[in-house]
Amino acid sequence: MSVRYTVTRGCTKCGWCVHECQADAIAFDREGAHIDPESCTGCGRCYDNCASEAIEKLVDDG
Ligand code: SF4
Ligand code: SF4
Repeated sequence: MSVRYTVTRGCTKCGWCVHECQADAIAFDREGAHIDPESCTGCGRCYDNCASEAIEKLVDDG
């Protein structure tokens, strides 16, 4: 089972997740924050700390 995190449209570009991410996996584009799945370690800190609940947790059972 693997867990992935992705940013949805609710992102307010507050920047908190970038600050929280110790893997340096989050960057901004025009839409808002964007998580690089290659760099993400799946720690969940961004998900747990996004005040706008803009980050989605995707669980892959396969
Ligand atoms: S913490 Fe949430 S609202 Fe703030 S930049 Fe990250 S994804 Fe966007
Ligand atoms: S789950 Fe952890 S490593 Fe992945 S983007 Fe969020 S804070 Fe960074």
